Amino acid sequence: MADTTLMSIPGQVDPVPVARDITPREDGRVDLIGLPKKDIAALFEAAGLDQRQAKLRAKQVFHWLYHRGVTDFEAMTDIAKTMRPWLAERFVIGRPEVVEAQHSTDGTRKWLLRTADGHDFEMVFIPDADRGTLCVSSQVGCTLNCRFCHTGTMRLVRNLTPGEIVGQVMLARDALGEWPKGRMDMPDEETAAEYTADGRLLTNIVMMGMGEPLYNFDNVKGALQLVMDGDGLALSKRRITLSTSGVVPAMARCGEEIGVNLAVSLHAVTKDVRDEIVPINKKYGLEELLQACADYPGASNARRITFEYVMLKDKNDSDEDARELVRLIKKYKLPAKVNLIPFNPWPGAAYECSTPERIKAFSNIVFEGGISAPVRTPRGRDIDAACGQLKTAAEKKSRAQLDREAAEAAAAQA
Ligand code: SAH
Ligand code: SF4
Repeated sequence: MADTTLMSIPGQVDPVPVARDITPREDGRVDLIGLPKKDIAALFEAAGLDQRQAKLRAKQVFHWLYHRGVTDFEAMTDIAKTMRPWLAERFVIGRPEVVEAQHSTDGTRKWLLRTADGHDFEMVFIPDADRGTLCVSSQVGCTLNCRFCHTGTMRLVRNLTPGEIVGQVMLARDALGEWPKGRMDMPDEETAAEYTADGRLLTNIVMMGMGEPLYNFDNVKGALQLVMDGDGLALSKRRITLSTSGVVPAMARCGEEIGVNLAVSLHAVTKDVRDEIVPINKKYGLEELLQACADYPGASNARRITFEYVMLKDKNDSDEDARELVRLIKKYKLPAKVNLIPFNPWPGAAYECSTPERIKAFSNIVFEGGISAPVRTPRGRDIDAACGQLKTAAEKKSRAQLDREAAEAAAAQA
């Protein structure tokens, strides 16, 4: 039996989490979602097909999974009727379980999802006039404890598998009704048109949900490769952004091996403040981080690095901070843009959001320094879907807190 116990948070700094095995399915079947095509072929071969057949079937199945979004082998019409039950006996096409789906008044949607072994995590879809962005989680919880982030207060953490990560994109496409409907084996004019239809709602992906993606590098890479694969979900790497709190040693690899846009949760420009609010700074300091940004493969004026900067009242929001931000970006010659994020509050948070006037003044200074610094409009606040608010309901009250509440209620009654 695989070890499915969750990791407890090992400390504030350098808590590289170890991926836990996921619980094997009780029926012994293997979930194909999250596997590269060559692994699917290897499984088919191990199950008894000859090499040529295995490769051919893997190609067909892969296309059905990622291009057409089917979840049933019976729907794979170019695979022989007798072959389909053979597949269904041995394999499944999984999706994370949807526990709850919420809709914000501003159109933002949030899903509470559950892994096969019972861990909850969240994903968020943010529709805009010209794009639709899916905010994807990389871990259940997060081992880092950024002081202003609700996810960082979750006590339990598990890395999500490639299937659970790409599964979020699959689920979003299911929910948005975005799989082509034509029949691949009958390419007459009408179905061919449907098959290639691409008026998509989901156009962009940001790895900005729960977790630190660069602490789950291999699984995030595996999932994003399926998202970018021309035979897979076929989304351009230019439409994918990975956000990191600053795991410096993994940043170059991210650029080289994944090649997506980079966002960095900077949030402060002095050692003292960044040490306090983004504790990974004690391990990888500002200079190291900015140098890694300067060296980020693929960054250019056409593909800028985004610096995220959460606006915390009287903490990091002075004119001096804004000027220092400009100075640092210029010093390291960074092709950068700055995203100012009004702090999204959560119960018990130690900070307040800066005033709108302060945010405006900060933004103006950065703009005057020649760097774009828009203020991000908070989305989905009413359903706790905004940046840093993701924390699953099951986790919102700790066991200890529930026990305390029960004890208090009992004492009040006595
Ligand atoms: N772990 C990664 C990605 C997820 S967080 C990272 O830290 O970069 C996505 C963004 O939301 C990060 O910039 C994060 O710092 C920010 N954020 C976290 N809590 C927030 C809050 N309460 N209000 C506003 N932004 C927050
Ligand atoms: Fe983790 Fe990012 Fe939240 Fe920091 S801001 S605790 S790295 S999810």
